[in-house]
Amino acid sequence: MKNVSNLSNLRHPLKTCVVALLACGMLSGLAYASEAAQPNPHSAAKPMSEAQLIAKAKAIHKHVLTIDTHNDIDINNFAFSRNYSQDVDSQVNLPKMIAGGLDASFFIVYTGQSSEPDAFEAAGYKKAYDSAINMFEAIHRMTTVFAPNQIELARSAADVERIHAKGKKVALIGVENGYPLGDEKTAVKRVKQFYERGARYISLAHQGHSQLSDSNTGEQSGWKWNGLSPLGKQVISEMNRFGIMIDVSHPSKESMLQTLKLSKAPIIASHSAVRSLADVSRNMDDEQMLALKANNGVIQIVGFSAYLKTDAPERRIAQKALREEFKLPDTLWWQAIRHANVPNLSDGQREQLIIRLDALDAAFPPPKRATVKDLVDHIDYAVNKIGIDHVGISSDFDGGGGIDGWNDASETFNVTLELVRRGYTEKQIAQLWGGNLLRVMRDVEQVAAKIQADEKKTAAK
Ligand SMILES: [Zn+2]
Repeated sequence: MKNVSNLSNLRHPLKTCVVALLACGMLSGLAYASEAAQPNPHSAAKPMSEAQLIAKAKAIHKHVLTIDTHNDIDINNFAFSRNYSQDVDSQVNLPKMIAGGLDASFFIVYTGQSSEPDAFEAAGYKKAYDSAINMFEAIHRMTTVFAPNQIELARSAADVERIHAKGKKVALIGVENGYPLGDEKTAVKRVKQFYERGARYISLAHQGHSQLSDSNTGEQSGWKWNGLSPLGKQVISEMNRFGIMIDVSHPSKESMLQTLKLSKAPIIASHSAVRSLADVSRNMDDEQMLALKANNGVIQIVGFSAYLKTDAPERRIAQKALREEFKLPDTLWWQAIRHANVPNLSDGQREQLIIRLDALDAAFPPPKRATVKDLVDHIDYAVNKIGIDHVGISSDFDGGGGIDGWNDASETFNVTLELVRRGYTEKQIAQLWGGNLLRVMRDVEQVAAKIQADEKKTAAK
């Protein structure tokens, strides 16, 4: 925390445009400004006027280092003609980060979990690996070719602070799904390779079981490994050895609890919400959150509507029946059906399914889209349950994330405003927006340094 609070004293030139934009009322989040200040559960300060509250939030937002730990990328936005130096059609890019005062972003090397027959054979692994390498290279093109004067890749917690202090945006890399690590022949050595390419967290599974770990989706479809696979366990110790954070946002609860027993370093949930408030298998229940606290890890509460507000029970029953009728895999997301072919369904069957989905939506409407208030309700719950040291913030932009008031990176200030409205102090907001995550990153780096030093000592004997 020492370094973060030092940074909070710095004036950040890029953020002055946020203040200007807000003053002009150009950001949609000003809707929040019309609401009355609310009671203040976190401090004994006397109530402020709305104008004072906004001014205070602006100052805090300018001072703290803001890190969003999960932003997906579309490979098509990493070309010479179209890239993040422009305000391309993505929820995160450099103009939007500047407008919203978002200082740092984990960009994601994402691989969907294949369920093709060759998924766990050489050909399937090769497809996954080639796609992952393309994404690593795309992120590097952004920081070295398209916008090297505006954004730089951080390879350590100290890098994050050094780059931010220069007034540049910070890029970090997270890997969503360890599937491209491949089989016993490649997985362990590719951990080092991914580290060298800049990966600073990896999750061992996404939606659907991988060769390394069960996914949360097993709650509906059954388990493959009952937690981690033997290879997944080896990958975890290799991640500890190189200093890569282990991300448990998509793996199953059992996988997460086994990871906690094995890992020598704190772990993260890079984009999850609270299961007690929204009962979906992607979220963390109280037992998981308390285990994360004991491990000194952090849960990055995610601005993803479906994880903050869930469907009514009747809607879920109707969806389950439809899934069974059309024999849809549990891993298939409802949103995907309207946009792409569905495995094992003809075009005609898919058309029928969409008609039935429309009828289902009419009979059992989906919940209203979540808001920044819902996001901060989840943050409040987590802070009350496991303490301010173990909670952070993420959006999952360009991967399904986005809520009313925080639709893209340009609206990032609205999250800070709601935190100030609830009475969080500047120090607490600095922790939530990145201080806690950097603490975990440093711990992971130190554990890796110790493991490597011990190995050298042993080898020298
Ligand atoms: Zn995800």
